[in-house]
Amino acid sequence: MASTTRWATKTQAPAMVYISGEEMTNYACELIVKDWIDPYFSTEKWQHFDMSCKNRDNTDDKVLHDAVAAGAKIGAIFKEPTITPTAEQKEEFGLKNSLGSPNGAMRRGWNGITISRDTIHIDGVELGFKKPVLFERHAVGGEYGAGWNTVGQGKLLTTFHPLKGDPILVDSRDLEDEHNVVVVYHNPLDNVTDLAHHFFSRCLEAEVVPYVVTKKTVFKWQEGFWAIHKKVFDEHYKEAFASKGLLDNTGGDLQHLISDAATMQIIRWTGGNFGMSAHNYDGDMLTDEVAQVHRSPGFITSNLIGKREDGAMIKEYEASHGTVSDLWHAHLRGEETSLNPLGLVEAMIGSMQHAAKLELDADPSTQENYDRVMTWTVTLRKAMHNTFRYGQGTRDMSGPTGYTTEDFIKKVAWRLDR
Ligand code: NAD
Repeated sequence: MASTTRWATKTQAPAMVYISGEEMTNYACELIVKDWIDPYFSTEKWQHFDMSCKNRDNTDDKVLHDAVAAGAKIGAIFKEPTITPTAEQKEEFGLKNSLGSPNGAMRRGWNGITISRDTIHIDGVELGFKKPVLFERHAVGGEYGAGWNTVGQGKLLTTFHPLKGDPILVDSRDLEDEHNVVVVYHNPLDNVTDLAHHFFSRCLEAEVVPYVVTKKTVFKWQEGFWAIHKKVFDEHYKEAFASKGLLDNTGGDLQHLISDAATMQIIRWTGGNFGMSAHNYDGDMLTDEVAQVHRSPGFITSNLIGKREDGAMIKEYEASHGTVSDLWHAHLRGEETSLNPLGLVEAMIGSMQHAAKLELDADPSTQENYDRVMTWTVTLRKAMHNTFRYGQGTRDMSGPTGYTTEDFIKKVAWRLDR
């Protein structure tokens, strides 16, 4: 590979927020920054936030609050996977606070619209899906923000009090069991128009067939999610999709897919070339299924798209998987591990590119810096893909003879330096 990345001076990495986590992914990211990024970039403009449980606990979660504020200001965020401690982990780590999900706080803090999760593809390497699969998971609402309680026999009333006007009885029911769990949640729909635009424009650019996934046949309250997509599609995208022949197999219209049917199609449609947009929880489940069909959670991207009050886009890039605890414990036992870093590194590439774009928009004199970031990130992607292509991939792809976590990182560093 041509050495397009060694410049006489290091490139100034544009400002972004770097959120670190813990366990195996934190270990791998530290190696990656040291071996792949530090030789080429000075990163003083990165703002670091340590989102480990210990630091969140020590700061009484001020670090989470500060990270959300910095992310909203800067607009480009890279995040390592983090742990939301269970009751047992709270004991194990000696935490004084019960810590909630940082991801939920970020999605709310950045007015999260969607979490986009796409398959990663390597030319010449066969993974689960032959062609791209694009996914939008609505970033807010549903079960994640539910209020609930356990109750006995009695009458359950759910009443809505509008800012103006009379209360509205949403539901009334008699509970006859002695032991019940009651749950209340809502689906905010204001940002689904933005979600639909984001979804259809991405599908159109990638030339894949879009499907909107709900269980609206039974869960009648999900009709709105579909109806907003359909309106946006018909008004803005239908003709463009039709002219590219992308509606030839859908009767010339946008297709709705029932969520349980979607679970089956994800296994059957291994040719890829489709996109799905779904509610928050359905999206969580279905994207894990996409990851499994596509060989490994290491081959999926995960980007949170939010909107600042002034309309500017906030983009947070992360891997779709967790902290890979099983490999971390193997590493602590002194055993070899093989972490596939592609999802993590696509997130680094995405956040660095978005940071460079924001910098360029604010100051056109940074064009050379922007070009350097673009060249380097493309070269990095090529170095990783070549490593997989030449049979030097991680074990989720290459089997037991595949490279270890550390050897894969060293091999890519060697390719970058050539
Ligand atoms: P996980 O995604 O970390 O791992 C699930 C399985 O997939 C494991 O067997 C793991 O070895 C494998 N795997 C995942 N990514 C891999 C990769 N890049 N290369 C090779 N193998 C890979 O999920 P988990 O084990 O359920 O969760 C571990 C921790 O991560 C938990 O504490 C959980 O709360 C946290 N978590 C965080 C996030 C996030 O921050 N976005 C998401 C999910 C889970």
